[in-house]
Amino acid sequence: MPSIVYYGSPRQARLEWKETLPAKLDLILEKLNLRERVKNETVALKMHVGNGVGYSTVHPVFVRRVVKAIKEGGGKPFIADVNWDVSGAETRGYTAEVLGCPIYPAAGPDEKYFYTYHRPYKNIQDWKLAGMIQDASFLVNFAHVKGHPSCGFGAAFKNLALGCMAGETRGAMHDTVQHDEYWFPEYCPDDETRQRIMAACPFEALVEDKQRPGYLHLHPEQCNACGRCLKIAPPGSLKIDALNFHSFQEACAISTAIALSTFEPGKVTHLSLATQMTPVCDCFGFTSMPILPDEGIFGSDDIVAIDRAVLDKTMNLRLIEENMPTSMEVHTRQGHPFRWLHGPLKDPYIVTEYGEALGLGSRDYELVDVLPVEKFERAGMAYIPAN
Ligand code: SF4
Repeated sequence: MPSIVYYGSPRQARLEWKETLPAKLDLILEKLNLRERVKNETVALKMHVGNGVGYSTVHPVFVRRVVKAIKEGGGKPFIADVNWDVSGAETRGYTAEVLGCPIYPAAGPDEKYFYTYHRPYKNIQDWKLAGMIQDASFLVNFAHVKGHPSCGFGAAFKNLALGCMAGETRGAMHDTVQHDEYWFPEYCPDDETRQRIMAACPFEALVEDKQRPGYLHLHPEQCNACGRCLKIAPPGSLKIDALNFHSFQEACAISTAIALSTFEPGKVTHLSLATQMTPVCDCFGFTSMPILPDEGIFGSDDIVAIDRAVLDKTMNLRLIEENMPTSMEVHTRQGHPFRWLHGPLKDPYIVTEYGEALGLGSRDYELVDVLPVEKFERAGMAYIPAN
């Protein structure tokens, strides 16, 4: 049986408030029976409240409606995010007064409040789950959809995977991409060639490894797999490999599985807002021009299905290349536009495959439009001269 994903289009037939995205969010919350499910629950509303001067995160108008619904249902909501995003959130309009509930750093103000889960994966042995997430009895995961330099895109998985872990684990998750060896110095012993390999990268993704003299260090976030370095590198010396790039997405799926495992069945739901989709994550501390047209709002109890539905709905949108930072380039036009933007080794669908393999949900879903946009039939126009 397919999972249900509720959907509200950003488009309107009539210029009336009840056809807007906040109104469609209300309809989605009703379909998800949120009010009926949160009575007496302590509800963590996991947000990404952004950083710096970012203004494209989920607008307080949406957040307040979710908080209101939780309170009307008898739940006790609080908003949680990582400490360095919560600190200064008021400068972006996120305050308890505006939103209707407190905003807490998920792992405490010093990232020292966490529960440890032992689960070896590459460089990670122990995962440090934020205490405020584990202590909640119900989770609303409200994500902003955008591009991401590590994995192509960030939405429901990404919001939990990084945002529910303490800082040490977040750092280790980014380091998973370094775990499998990609530089083999025995095939490139001379320094001059090494320098030429690094110089070939237009994105400064290859640098000297400070820990290991003679080694190269790859920053996958900056690498779009253009292959320029491989034209210089002697055979066998350098690998630009999916194994490294996909590690981050697998780590995101594992992290999410740990966070979700602390909630009883039926005590989690997910919302994703696909508007103002910027090239990179909201943690960058600024808002760039949107690189995809707005695609609306989604809600589901299935995290795999909701990310899959978001990707499918945005798959055929036009990448707004004129809005791309000029430091980025498109060299593949296959697959999802986020893949065009960040390179073929950052296929945004991968995280849903890992998530499904871990039993977190289903890629088989049914999309239910909560308010289909009405189409109008009109008779042909007559010609009226202007003078
Ligand atoms: S593949 Fe391209 S972007 Fe990646 S390190 Fe090599 S030159 Fe840089």
